[in-house]
Parts: sequence; C-alpha cells; structure tokens
Amino acid sequence: MIIRYPVKDHTISQPFGRDASNDPIYKEFYATFDYKHCGVDFPIAVGTEISASFTGVVVRCENHVGMGNVVGVRNGNIVSLYAHLSKITMQLGEIVNEGVLIGYSGCTGEACPTPHLHFELRDLTKPTLKEMVFEPRFDEEVSQWVSTFKYIVNNKNSKKTLKSLSKMYFGNENKWELIKAVNDYSFDGDCVLEDSLTVMIPNF
Ligand SMILES: [Zn+2]
Repeated sequence: MIIRYPVKDHTISQPFGRDASNDPIYKEFYATFDYKHCGVDFPIAVGTEISASFTGVVVRCENHVGMGNVVGVRNGNIVSLYAHLSKITMQLGEIVNEGVLIGYSGCTGEACPTPHLHFELRDLTKPTLKEMVFEPRFDEEVSQWVSTFKYIVNNKNSKKTLKSLSKMYFGNENKWELIKAVNDYSFDGDCVLEDSLTVMIPNF
C-alpha cells in the first residue's frame, strides 16, 4: 500500500517528530507523544480540497477537541487521519478510493493556531498511541502494512462486543458477522467479549 499526498501543494510547515515542548498551544496535545509532533502539517488555506491518501473505510468522522473535524480512513492495520477540516464530505462506514475528495481544510479544534491540514498515520498493531504514530513517507510503500491484524480485547474503558469492534474498525456495526466468520465464533454481535481475547480484524 502506497501513501499519496492528501493535498496538491506538498509544502510541509511542521514535520513529524518536531519538538513541541516549548510551544504553548501544541504542548498539552502532544504530551502523550513525548511532546513530539505526531503527524505532518500542510499550511493550506481554509477550503482547500483534501483527498484520501489511500483506499480504505471511513472509521472516524467526528469533532475532536484538539483535532477539530477529523476523518479517519483504515486499510488493514493502517489508519490515516485528516484533522482541522472545515467540512467533511464522507460518512462513517463509507469506502473511499485513493485520491477521492474527503473534505475541505480548515482550522477547527484547539490545536490549530493557523489554518492547516494535520495528517497522521497510525499502525493499529502497536500497543499504545505513542507507538502507533509513525512518520508518513509519501509515494512510498508502507512497510508495516498488513491486511488482517490481531486485536487484544481490553474492557477497561468499555465492554467490547463484535458490534463495537465493527464500529471501531468499519465505521458502523454492520460488519460484526464478517469479524465473527473470520474468527469462527459461535456467539452473536451483542455478546461481551472476554478480556484479553485475541480477535482477528479483517480488512474492509
Ligand atoms: Zn499537526
């Protein structure tokens, strides 16, 4: 799987890994990442077209306190995030093809002092958020991409069911039977999964 630029102008104002420990606005948002910038920023005007970096399923479509209007697209274990958008043109659970319009850039969310697109990649096979984020290398293959990956059930914050995993990884609850089939389970979508159970998550 190859990562394409989500915008026509390839200028990057804030590279991945930039130290944000002295930045009054970014500081608190990047505490989780040891105060390092967890994505790349494209300094583009509000209303610029944003396109999908790779084909995938829309797993996130929401207003986040720091990232503002954010879209998340998953292909296998890799999720791409497009943050601070002024407008989102996709819906949860939709399949988007590489290069297709997903929304327009903006400056929404508290971690946005000036209009830009924050683009971030996460590898879902990693155990913590800090380890999940990695440096986007555009027009290159993602070496760690896998189509199917293992999820270890963690019921600490919320009880997991096949339906909730479907929502997390497919954008809606409708794909729980696909997850069930891959794992050869006999229980239904509302059954609470046992803590620490390993669940194979298929691709969209
Ligand atoms: Zn950023």
